Amino acid sequence: MTEAYDPNNIFAKIIRGEIPCHKVFEDDDTLAFMDIMPQGNGHVLVLPKGEARNILDATPEQLAAVIATVQRIAKAVKAAFAADGVFVQQFNEAPAGQTVFHLHFHVIPRFEGVGLRGHTGQMADHGLLAEHAAKIRTALGG
Ligand code: 5GP
Repeated sequence: MTEAYDPNNIFAKIIRGEIPCHKVFEDDDTLAFMDIMPQGNGHVLVLPKGEARNILDATPEQLAAVIATVQRIAKAVKAAFAADGVFVQQFNEAPAGQTVFHLHFHVIPRFEGVGLRGHTGQMADHGLLAEHAAKIRTALGG
């Protein structure tokens, strides 16, 4: 059984503006920002703004909105980093690797012959995250 949504999870706090993030995109229903422990340069997280623990309790409307933003961000990171491909990753519940319990998709540029760093590995430098966020916003036309 899916557990209840906890409104005090870290991404709910980011959505409410209670803690900062390196934002790359926002619309009425979704938010996209840099992952603080990126698996690769340009690693973005895309979330619905409404409450959803993961894909198991999300509404079709939340999923439609979030996947449209995932596509928008995938195109932008590919262009911003001149990537060879884009990896989209999403975890549901702790045994499947989920560590933050607000639905999110990882969007990660990939390069021929370059591996990824570990999931929830090392904290990135904030200056570098800010630089990467700016590159992605430029690719989005912002
Ligand atoms: P998951 O729940 O899919 O396992 O991963 C959660 C992701 O959120 C991880 O990749 C982790 O690096 C990222 N993360 C955890 N806490 C924060 C935070 O406070 N800010 C940002 N921007 N990312 C976070």
